[in-house]
Amino acid sequence: MPSVASGHLFIVSAPSGVGKSTIVRAVLARDPRLRFSVSCTTRAPRPGETPGVDYHFLSQDDFESGIREGRFLEWAIVYGNYYGTDRRKVEAWLDEGLDVLLEIDVQGARKVRATDLAATTLFILPPSMDALEMRLRRRGTETEDVIRRRLEAACEEIREAPWYDYVIVNDVLEDAVADVAAVIRAARCARGRAHGALAPFVPFF
Ligand code: ADP
Ligand code: 5GP
Repeated sequence: MPSVASGHLFIVSAPSGVGKSTIVRAVLARDPRLRFSVSCTTRAPRPGETPGVDYHFLSQDDFESGIREGRFLEWAIVYGNYYGTDRRKVEAWLDEGLDVLLEIDVQGARKVRATDLAATTLFILPPSMDALEMRLRRRGTETEDVIRRRLEAACEEIREAPWYDYVIVNDVLEDAVADVAAVIRAARCARGRAHGALAPFVPFF
């Protein structure tokens, strides 16, 4: 039994526009033990996005160098742009015993699941495809063409939902936030991750 508990990974995936960033922001604001992994991407920043906070915005050349150098824990091409998780920060936080949340697509989630890192996976669904379309349009950050492509991709992504550990519907926002927080709380109590709590009682085993 390890004497020092390492942190746990949480992976949140959802089609674009479901509300995952909104949910993740709310969950992070009330959970001091949870860290957000700021992804790298080659897509252009949206109005209101801050480099280093929402994403690390990289050129295609820099991203491809990162791939060659093994910088990414996982990476994927999503909607025509590169996205990837910087490995160094995530591993450092886990070593410190902090839990880390990755907001990544289904391809990335599969890649992390294939590593030896323990991860709890959560998929967020919209209440309906109509609601998803309305949210994408109301956000107003994508062109019509991009919205169309993202809606088509959503059907493919939703097909992957059944293999996730948890599936949460973002209908009423506060309920979805509470559901995600509840999964994280339960995962921390799971027997396999209770080493920190059990450490003082090692002589009993
Ligand atoms: P994602 O990160 O999944 O692409 P966002 O968090 O940007 O999605 O949310 C997309 C839009 O939907 C935003 O305008 C957001 O305010 C809105 N939204 C999020 N959750 C809900 C909800 N439960 N009901 C209605 N609108 C929502
Ligand atoms: P957006 O451009 O709307 O912020 O994100 C588009 C998609 O890329 C979303 O499905 C989001 O989860 C995914 N994504 C964001 N960061 C990463 C990452 O680091 N790796 C992978 N594989 N996907 C990511």
